[in-house]
Amino acid sequence: MKQTENLIVGLGIAGLNLCHQLEKAGKPFLVIDNCPTNSASLIAGGIYNPIALKRKLRSWLVDDLFPIMVESHRELDEKLAIQSLHHNFPILKPISSKDEVTEWKQVIEEGRLFPYVDSIEETVPRGPFKEDVFASVTIKKSGFVRIEKTLLAYREYLKNKGLLIQENFDHSAISHNQNGIEYRDVKANRIIFSEGRFISENPYFNWVPFKPTKGQILTVKTDSSLTPDRIYNQQFLLFPTEEKDVFKLGATYEWDKLDEIPTAASTTELLAKAEKALTVKFEVLEEKAAIRPTVIDRRPAIGVHPDYENLFLFNGMGTKGVMIAPYFAKQLVNFIYHDGELDKEAELNRFLRKHYKKD
Ligand SMILES: Cc1cc2nc3c(=O)[nH]c(=O)nc-3n(C[C@H](O)[C@H](O)[C@H](O)COP(=O)(O)OP(=O)(O)OC[C@H]3O[C@@H](n4cnc5c(N)ncnc54)[C@H](O)[C@@H]3O)c2cc1C
Repeated sequence: MKQTENLIVGLGIAGLNLCHQLEKAGKPFLVIDNCPTNSASLIAGGIYNPIALKRKLRSWLVDDLFPIMVESHRELDEKLAIQSLHHNFPILKPISSKDEVTEWKQVIEEGRLFPYVDSIEETVPRGPFKEDVFASVTIKKSGFVRIEKTLLAYREYLKNKGLLIQENFDHSAISHNQNGIEYRDVKANRIIFSEGRFISENPYFNWVPFKPTKGQILTVKTDSSLTPDRIYNQQFLLFPTEEKDVFKLGATYEWDKLDEIPTAASTTELLAKAEKALTVKFEVLEEKAAIRPTVIDRRPAIGVHPDYENLFLFNGMGTKGVMIAPYFAKQLVNFIYHDGELDKEAELNRFLRKHYKKD
């Protein structure tokens, strides 16, 4: 029989960050993951943007989330001997409407976006933009994490330590007793589920109201006029891979037909948006699609099961797993071990009255 304090189910961005925070706190854990070749985390752009661009507002909790995200990814890069975090990598937002210029000027003058945006450039931005772009803002302190690289390296790290069981978790094999939980040959104080969109197959937590979102992302080759020193953001995100003139172009949002199959329609949509804004041509090298675990109110879903005190949920990272998961993983570990509080907007309890029915 293997014994652990924390059995974690699912090793995507959520599970990875939980493991990292548990390890930092010196708490034992074991992970079960089926090690897919495709998942939301494996295909994610990994971009973090402190500004909600459409509404010209600071992103939710950004000042709290950012320090922990940067710290965690620096630590992970060091531990895994990789370079995955690209911090202080600017996002360029081109502007092609006079009204937008006025709106940006106003929020900047009021200091509402400081320190992430502090000026607007009222000249045509450097780069291959179509002629109607005559201004731009540059977002600071943004960046991206090559999350696939981190996850694959972390899988190996856990395997080498004997902390990863590669299998499909079967919820019907859980047995509850006074001292904790048994699952096959594992005895644990608690199970923390971070199964992403597969929460729908978890009989303990499938009542939590998710509204999963399919997303598609492309790997594209361009000519050399597209400089790899920034993230281009114009109803699409375009950012460099580690290969010369090869970029990622994403992402779509779909709520019907939730499968992981890339479609020609989504590829056309992404290319049309990019080619409308930029003068470059793209050759598609690869198309990928996966499902984001998004909750109806677009906040995470974290906490303890209302009837089983040994079962926890760490899910609902939605469209922003990279930014959100490190902060809330730390919060959950603090909640479990030090009676810390969970953010009311993220806590599972908010759904109890309306969505949970006791058997
Ligand atoms: C196209 C696209 C682009 C994106 N771009 C960005 C971006 O730029 N920035 C950003 O922050 N976010 C981005 N996201 C969102 C991000 O991917 C998610 O927030 C994040 O991946 C969610 O991570 P997760 O760990 O909750 O879920 P997942 O990545 O789905 O991981 C869950 C893991 O649990 C495993 N699992 C589930 N059930 C079981 C079981 N029964 N037994 C064993 N294993 C199981 C799964 O196989 C998987 O390995 C993007 C998403 C998509 C689809």
